[in-house]
Amino acid sequence: MPRYEYRCLTCTDTYELSRPMNESDAPATCPSGHTDSVKLLSTVALAGGVGAVSAAPAESGGGGCCGGGCCG
Ligand SMILES: [Zn+2]
Repeated sequence: MPRYEYRCLTCTDTYELSRPMNESDAPATCPSGHTDSVKLLSTVALAGGVGAVSAAPAESGGGGCCGGGCCG
């Protein structure tokens, strides 16, 4: 079951909940019992196709010559 991260708007606490994907946008009660919460961008650990924005291209050696057009 995917984990989602929420933040309580009342006590500004952040917490994670495991819930079905179709309930990801449902209100999530914080550990203190508040119901005013928003869903944060979660670190989706399972295959979903979203995320991975920090993945750097591995083939780039850092020289920057090849690929810029100066090597031809
Ligand atoms: Zn709270």
